[in-house]
Amino acid sequence: MSTTPRTAIVTGAARGIGAATARRLAADGHAVGVLDLDEAACADTVAAITGAGGRAIAVGVDVSKADQVAAAVQRVADELGAPTILVNNAGITRDNLIFRMTEEDWDAVINVHLRGSFLMTRAVQTHMTAEKFGRIVNLSSTSAQGNRGQVNYSAAKAGLQGFTKTLAIELGQFGVTANAIAPGFIQSEMTRATAERLGVSFDDFIAHSAKEIPVQRVGQPDDIAAMVSFLTSDEAGFVSGQVIYVAGGPQD
Ligand code: NAP
Repeated sequence: MSTTPRTAIVTGAARGIGAATARRLAADGHAVGVLDLDEAACADTVAAITGAGGRAIAVGVDVSKADQVAAAVQRVADELGAPTILVNNAGITRDNLIFRMTEEDWDAVINVHLRGSFLMTRAVQTHMTAEKFGRIVNLSSTSAQGNRGQVNYSAAKAGLQGFTKTLAIELGQFGVTANAIAPGFIQSEMTRATAERLGVSFDDFIAHSAKEIPVQRVGQPDDIAAMVSFLTSDEAGFVSGQVIYVAGGPQD
């Protein structure tokens, strides 16, 4: 698969799925803006990319803050060129059953996933429409279909699916595609924290989850990065407004 070198932005790219995606897009030939809450925390991802001969910069940003988002996107444009690939990956969980869920935990999750993806996309689409090319990938989740203890997260991830489809409709005429990836269980700090919350060891949680997955293993960040690589490639230009479940088995 070949693709034209471009400038990409990946949010939440200090670790986990975001870090693997940033490394993969750099390997595909793109310059990468590695965005995360803490600029210093992006150092490992940037070092892995530059060490392999790629181009990347670390940018600290809270994706839920409009002024920070505008400044971060401008910095990437100034230092790496107009961004035409955007991966909205930054995310948090604040799990609880509905009767125990606080307004703060509801707002925190909705703000990072939904407001953050909105603010980032609004800022970056200016560059995409000017360049008449764009690839937007939003990280949804199998939890969009409902998951005990995650009313906030599943609402945000379902919301991202509607957001994605509407972006595809509005921006298609400018050469911009928008798709969502909905991962199942991916081994990362996020799922490690879930195991802790449930009071089980991460190893047991992984082993138990793997048994429930048709391919009999949990996912790795690189499984998601591979799908991002395809969806952001030149040849994926006729795939838009889709939600692609990457979960080791079918989804209803
Ligand atoms: P992760 O390891 O927790 O990484 C998420 C990254 O996002 C962290 O570096 C985090 O920074 C950053 N972040 C959080 N809030 C932010 C903000 N306001 N602005 C900028 N960056 C922020 O999670 P992951 O497992 O790689 O998940 C990545 C994405 O995939 C998320 O959207 C998640 O919901 C989705 N997903 C994950 C799974 C899974 O099984 N792991 C399944 C389905 C979907 P801090 O460390 O400073 O908080």
